[in-house]
Order: sequence, then C-alpha cells, then structure tokens
Amino acid sequence: MNSTNPTNSMVITFIGTGCGVPSKQRSSPSILLSLDQENLLFDSGPGSLRELLKAGYTYNEIDYIFYTHFHVDHISDLAPFIFASKYPLAPRTRNISIVGPSGIEDFWKGLLSLYGEQIIPEHYSVNIMNITRFKSEGWRLKTAKLPHAKESIGYRIEKNGKVFVYSGDTEYSEELIELGKNANALILECSFPREVKGHLYPEIAAKIAQECKVKLLILTHLYPIMDKNEITSIVSKKFNGRFVVARDGMQIVI
Ligand SMILES: [Zn+2]
Ligand SMILES: [Zn+2]
Repeated sequence: MNSTNPTNSMVITFIGTGCGVPSKQRSSPSILLSLDQENLLFDSGPGSLRELLKAGYTYNEIDYIFYTHFHVDHISDLAPFIFASKYPLAPRTRNISIVGPSGIEDFWKGLLSLYGEQIIPEHYSVNIMNITRFKSEGWRLKTAKLPHAKESIGYRIEKNGKVFVYSGDTEYSEELIELGKNANALILECSFPREVKGHLYPEIAAKIAQECKVKLLILTHLYPIMDKNEITSIVSKKFNGRFVVARDGMQIVI
C-alpha cells in the first residue's frame, strides 16, 4: 500500500473503533487520515500500533499524532509507538510531531520519567506540541474545546476543499456544531445506546450531523453494547445524509 495518498482526496482509515472496554470486534480509538504528503494519526489507544500494521501502514509512516484528550483508551500506545521506533534493525528516521491539548508536554514528561531512555529518540526528533502552538503547512486545522475531559478537543482538517472532522469523546455542544459545519466526513463518537454523561448516543449524534449539514456521518468509539443495538433506523429518523457505522480496518475516501 502507498505510504501516503497521492491524490487530492483524503483517505480515512479506521484503525480502532471501540473504546476502553475490550471487544473482539473493535480495538481502542485510533483514526488515520492520509493526505497527499502526510499521514496524520488521531488518538492511539491500546493496540493501535498493531492495528495500524493490520490496516497496511507502519508506525514509521506516521508524520503526526493528534490527541483529543488524555484518557487511557485514547493515548496509551504513545509510549509503545516511540519504543518501537527504536527498533535497531529498522530505526525510524522520519521526524514526528505529537500534538495535543493543554497538558501534552506534561504528559510526555511523565512518560519520560517512567520509561527514560526507552523512549528517547535516536535517529529522528519527536516534537511535542501544544495545539495552540501548532502551525500546519498545506492544510488548515481548527480545533474546538468539547465537553468531556477538562482538556478535550475536537479536530477539523481542511484541504483542497475537503473537510474532515473528528470529535473525540464529547457531549452535544454548540462548539461541536460549529466545528462540524458542512464537513465531507463528520466522525462522531457514539458510545452508548442512550444518554450517559460525557458521551453521545445515536439520536443525538444524528441531530448533530443534521445541524452541521454534513455529507457523511461516521459513528465510532462504540462500547460492546452498541453492537447489540439497532443504530441505523434511529439515525435515519433524524439525519437525512449518508451514514456509516465504522468498523476496524474500514477505509473511506472523501
Ligand atoms: Zn474514549
Ligand atoms: Zn474519554
């Protein structure tokens, strides 16, 4: 598989579509966005390093990791990622930027104090960056603070007239509606069948997609209970665009 995507389209690969509770069908949250020159990974929950390989990519092909928040199910493969990059027979040489909300530098310092030289890069550099300092090249990035953990943010990437939006974990909010406006692909978490604090459920995800007037709604971050519940009929009552429930390894081109 090509390491990037040499077209004007965006290729979205769902690396993990589950949550922190183990599931045979779904790994923990991680989404890959391939642009023409770069691979952007969003979140890296436990197991994503291996799921990435199963999806046809390696950790050495990732240029950026963007974190939505610091919950264990979203960030815990960061240390294994950097550790694997030291593999002496095929050491990483491509620089990487690790970008996240306020607190990302302290999170990294904490990992360094735990793991020491195991995660100190040798043949490349790790650029740890608060989102407020991030400057993208060749594409536009916007974020919004979203209601979940105190640091939670969602991401919007625009390039060549295409718009990708990923909520991370969240509840309904006006900021999310603004972030998702007219997206080609709006990826929303949909944790539970009904309202649970800090998360979305099918009716409310559909309402958000309708208010944002998106072309395609993709639901991810599904707890195991969601695979026993009917989702499509609920969503189609409130949202009249295209809609997909994500699966691990699924690829969508926009
Ligand atoms: Zn989560
Ligand atoms: Zn969370």
